[in-house]
Amino acid sequence: MIKDAKFGTLLIHAGQKPDALNAVIPPIYQTSTFTFKDAQNGADCFAGESDGYIYTRLGNPTVRVLEDAMAALEGGFGGIATSSGMAAVTTVYLAFLSAGSHIVSTDAVYGASRSVLEKHFSRFGVESSFVDTSDLALVESALRPNTKLLYIETPANPTMAITDIAACARLCADKGIKLVVDNTFCSPYLQQPLALGADAVLHSITKFINGHADVVGGVIVTKTESDHKLLYNIMTSMGPNMDPHQAFLVIRGLKTLGIRMERAMANAVKIAQWLEQHPAVAWIKYPGLPSHPQFALAQQQQEGPGAMICFGLKGGFEAGKKLMDNVTVAALAVSLGGVETLIQHPASMTHAKVSAEAKLRAGITDDLVRYSVGIEDVSDLIADLENALSHVSQ
Ligand SMILES: *Cc1c(COP(=O)(O)O)cnc(C)c1O
Repeated sequence: MIKDAKFGTLLIHAGQKPDALNAVIPPIYQTSTFTFKDAQNGADCFAGESDGYIYTRLGNPTVRVLEDAMAALEGGFGGIATSSGMAAVTTVYLAFLSAGSHIVSTDAVYGASRSVLEKHFSRFGVESSFVDTSDLALVESALRPNTKLLYIETPANPTMAITDIAACARLCADKGIKLVVDNTFCSPYLQQPLALGADAVLHSITKFINGHADVVGGVIVTKTESDHKLLYNIMTSMGPNMDPHQAFLVIRGLKTLGIRMERAMANAVKIAQWLEQHPAVAWIKYPGLPSHPQFALAQQQQEGPGAMICFGLKGGFEAGKKLMDNVTVAALAVSLGGVETLIQHPASMTHAKVSAEAKLRAGITDDLVRYSVGIEDVSDLIADLENALSHVSQ
């Protein structure tokens, strides 16, 4: 590939090397193990003196294509692909936290990224604090002498609160604190945390990167070789690996990330503007609207506002349920970032059994609707919302 290839070219070609038969698309190396040519070759592979493959938990050529592509797209040293987004999150925690260390995280962080700390890492003596990381003063005052990791999600799920990555990097500098960013909502097409000073970036690949709602997966990209080695060691010994078939599908999805994002984002801008004017809508949080509390930061830090919209209905809980029961184009489902539009009313669906306190903590109010914009015709999406909202009392 040409030197200094741009993002759109990297999306198509990064990580791909010709195989023995010059296949245009990386084959699925659906094999658990690899033969050594002879005893010496086996010894060299294990000593790291040959780049041959050994065993799929330790590395697989199809998975490596995806890892190298993601490293190129995020501008990092290397990538590690995992079986799920949560496997990526826990691998990061395992790498950067030990007994007695402390993590500061975004309060509206993805639910499982929080609960794994509170329920499990706490058993091993890890302390955690959750603050609104969009307020830097709160981040600074949460840091302790034993803080080892500042873990931020921006934009956060589902509040759409935006955290200043470069400012967080400055807070961590010289304190021995690693800064890791969950970049799931933006993808590297819109936001490149390593260039803003983060040590590592991770994704639920399930969402925008794969983009077709047919794979669950994750990836971590580190800035330095030493962090890559640390994470690689955890991955190969604990085994949260991505499998080759999963990687093949993600490589296929990744190629269209740019055009999918452009279309979904253009749809999202129109839908957000339309929703903001609608009499049944009480509030809307979309980084592309000047009404977003961090509109200026979003414009500076992100290449675009993304395709996730959160809004509240004046009719509250019942209106949310009515809306869900009357949409016909948007599908009622969790997850996000696919070519199909998904809608979710957490209070009556995913969080129906969750305590009021826990819902509040997660930023989920009874009126909140989350809308993941797909690439359908925007006029159909707006007509669908218009019809469904006509059933909602204001
Ligand atoms: C979905 C999601 C995760 C978890 O990823 P899985 O692939 O479901 O394990 C983590 N962070 C964010 C922001 C997500 O949206």
